[in-house]
Amino acid sequence: MDPFADTLRRLREAFGSGRTRPAEFRAAQLKGLGRFLRDNKQLLQEALLQDLHKSAFEAEVSEIRISQIEIDLALRNLRAWMKDEKVPKNLGTQLDSAFIRKEPFGLVLIIAPWNYPVNLTLVPLVGALAAGNCVVLKPSEFSRSTEKILAEVLPRYLDQSCFAVVLGGPQETGQLLEHKFDYIFFTGNPRVGRIVMAAAAKHLTPVTLELGGKNPCYVDDDCDPQTVANRVAWFRYFNSGQTCVAPDYVLCSPDTQERLLPALQRAITRFYGEDPRSSPSLGRIISEKHFRRLRGLLGCGRVVIGGQSDESDRYIAPTVLVDVQETEPVMQEEIFGPILPIVNVRSLDEAIDFINRREKPLALYAFSNSNQHPARAKLEPLLRKHVPTWGLSGRLLHNHTPTCDSSPAAPKVVKRVLAQTSSGGFCGNDGFMHMTLTSLPFGGVGASGMGSYHGKFSFDTFSHHRACLLRPPGLEKIYSLRYPPYSPRNLRML
Ligand code: NAD
Repeated sequence: MDPFADTLRRLREAFGSGRTRPAEFRAAQLKGLGRFLRDNKQLLQEALLQDLHKSAFEAEVSEIRISQIEIDLALRNLRAWMKDEKVPKNLGTQLDSAFIRKEPFGLVLIIAPWNYPVNLTLVPLVGALAAGNCVVLKPSEFSRSTEKILAEVLPRYLDQSCFAVVLGGPQETGQLLEHKFDYIFFTGNPRVGRIVMAAAAKHLTPVTLELGGKNPCYVDDDCDPQTVANRVAWFRYFNSGQTCVAPDYVLCSPDTQERLLPALQRAITRFYGEDPRSSPSLGRIISEKHFRRLRGLLGCGRVVIGGQSDESDRYIAPTVLVDVQETEPVMQEEIFGPILPIVNVRSLDEAIDFINRREKPLALYAFSNSNQHPARAKLEPLLRKHVPTWGLSGRLLHNHTPTCDSSPAAPKVVKRVLAQTSSGGFCGNDGFMHMTLTSLPFGGVGASGMGSYHGKFSFDTFSHHRACLLRPPGLEKIYSLRYPPYSPRNLRML
């Protein structure tokens, strides 16, 4: 007995009827999603607290508000995104109309992980609904409280003939993947990504794979250690380190390590107090299985900060390790927890070589003040005045002349790391701020994934870009010049 067959048949019929295609229908679904978030904000915050001990602040900025921003952006731009895109023409098509039509794929499957269980289900869902698809959503079985709300409450806000939530772990998801979908959007670990891609290949179904990996963080000798420590610590220990774009390890010289360690200790104490375990701002590990894996990693290298753990609470203290060997598990697998190893390198070249010898990461970070352009000193006051300032909500706080990324704001060391490496995304002198911009695509490269989303990129990901040319039916005299029998005259026409 196939538990999914009826649901999938119903959704396919709904898609076939064409009801998801009009802009009005898509907008109504997006508005429904927005209402779901507003009406159930407290319920979602409580669920995130139960699942991950997520603070109200982290739940708001990284789950709820980020989803709301995507919904609002899609609603504001829906008609413009849906519009046929005119393209340049050649001599032989001057009298025709040539354009790209963005059409929905059909039945889309979204498989989500547990670490940001609202964001990583709803943000792809915004793109899939805006693009006019029918959607099957498979949340993670590990974030149980959030999964329950997504399964029981969310469908009430959407057209249930076009949308369904299905539940289950690997076995059920495996069964689901035997069915044919028109697009699969998967977020999770690279091992499962391979399983999903192999299942999709049987039906030649296109996929987006949002995967993980080890994100390097290079810290140059010329830096302000406290600023770097604050930023690295916030992004490493946010959501208790269970973030796919968190800095996974620091690469720096032994001297910089000596300056960074007290600064990291100060940052951790300032953020989480003398006893981080009692801090309401620090999350917990999602499951016992992950807790045990992480506790095992505490045995690598030498613990210099933190290192405490408690299984009854799935608590692991914000931890820093030094003297780790490349061959130890902490440098072999994605950490995905509140543990930060520091690896020593003697030069920038060695750091770049270290990064390039490994799989391409989802994100890469570089911190440096050095080798600034001489004009920077002069320009800095001007830049401060003219750079637009954005609130975390994406709201423009004040708007002045925008500057471009090639401005002297980025020191040369940061630019060298950017130029000589590859990664899904890159951020100079901070943690994962690049992913807060809906104007940038979010996704991996190589082993960290394929495809991207956020903002209009989501709409494009879930739309087939259909190449269209409409020719007037007449003018056969002109067009017949190309027909056989061929002669030198045919060639002259080219
Ligand atoms: P996971 O791959 O174990 O699970 C993700 C989803 O796949 C879940 O819904 C799960 O039920 C399903 N699944 C698990 N095993 C399966 C199998 N054998 N067959 C079919 N489906 C299966 O990932 P996770 O533990 O939930 O999340 C952590 C991983 O996700 C990390 O590697 C992290 O880096 C990555 N991640 C990536 C991003 C990104 O945007 N690139 C975001 C968050 C997490």
